[in-house]
Amino acid sequence: MSRATVLVVEDDEPVRSAVSDGLSASGFEVAAVETAEDGRRHVERSRVDLVVLDIGLPDMSGLDLCRRLRADDGLLPILILSARDAVTDRVAGLAAGADDYLVKPFALAELVARLHALHRRSELLDALGSEQNTLRVGELAIDVDRRTAAVNGVDLQLTRREFDLLTVLARNRDLVLSRFTLLEKVWGYDFDVETNVVDVFVGYLRRKLAAAGAADVIRTVRGVGFVIDSPRVSAP
Ligand code: CA
Repeated sequence: MSRATVLVVEDDEPVRSAVSDGLSASGFEVAAVETAEDGRRHVERSRVDLVVLDIGLPDMSGLDLCRRLRADDGLLPILILSARDAVTDRVAGLAAGADDYLVKPFALAELVARLHALHRRSELLDALGSEQNTLRVGELAIDVDRRTAAVNGVDLQLTRREFDLLTVLARNRDLVLSRFTLLEKVWGYDFDVETNVVDVFVGYLRRKLAAAGAADVIRTVRGVGFVIDSPRVSAP
C-alpha cells in the first residue's frame, strides 16, 4: 500500500497537533489547516488521499465543507471528527457525504485504524476501475477512474483541479471551450474564484505537460478559449 496523505482540518490547536503527530507516527503523510477555506484550497492544489474534518470550524461548518469536497470528488474518503455525539449529528455528517464519523474524545488508535480501512477501500476501488475508462489523445492518457494523467507512461502528478480541467478539454477535444464554459464545468459553484483562474491553471498544466515532453497539447484560441486538438494522422 502506498503512503497515504491525510489532510487534517481542525481549528483546535491541541487536537490538531495531537492528531497530526499521531498520524505522522503511524506512517501517514500529514497536512494540517485551521479553517474550512484553507482546507478547500489545500485539496484543490495538492494531492490528498484522506480528509479528517472537524465540524465546528471558524469560517464554515465542517458539514458544508464536506458537501463541497464531496461534490468535487465522489470518491475522496472523508472522516468527520466532532464533539457532538447525538445521533442526529452523526446522521447529518454521513448525509453530508462523510464516509465515517468519530466522536471526541477518541483514541488515536481508533482514528488510525479507521483511516487505514478507508484508504484500503479507496485503493481497492482505484484498482478495480484502473483498466476501464481511459481517455487518450495522442501521447496523453487520462485514467478517469484513478484520476491520473500520463504522457508516454509518465504520471503528470496533477492536483484535482488540474486533472478536472485537462479531462474536460480532452473529453471535448477539437471543440474550443471558452473560459466561462471551463469555469462552469471545472469550478462549478465557485464563482468567487479569481477571474484569471482558468489561464492560471492552463499555465500549470502546460508546465507539467511540457516537463513530460508534450508541450503543445493545449492550444490557445485568441479571444475565445482553449482546445485540445486530435493528433494529425500523417499520410502513409
Ligand atoms: Ca472546532
